[in-house]
Amino acid sequence: MDIQVGNIVKLKKKHPCGSAEWEVLRVGADFRLKCCGCGHQIMIARPALEKSVRQIL
Ligand SMILES: [Zn+2]
Repeated sequence: MDIQVGNIVKLKKKHPCGSAEWEVLRVGADFRLKCCGCGHQIMIARPALEKSVRQIL
């Protein structure tokens, strides 16, 4: 799966704020994602992210 900085990814699970879209801020062994709905940032490991991505926008 080819995910790059600046991509917007849609996850299977929605964030509590109601948005399922996240902006990719950093890639590597872990990804840093920012919620497009509320701006909340998370770190997520690559295997976990690849499992939960529904779509790359
Ligand atoms: Zn959110």
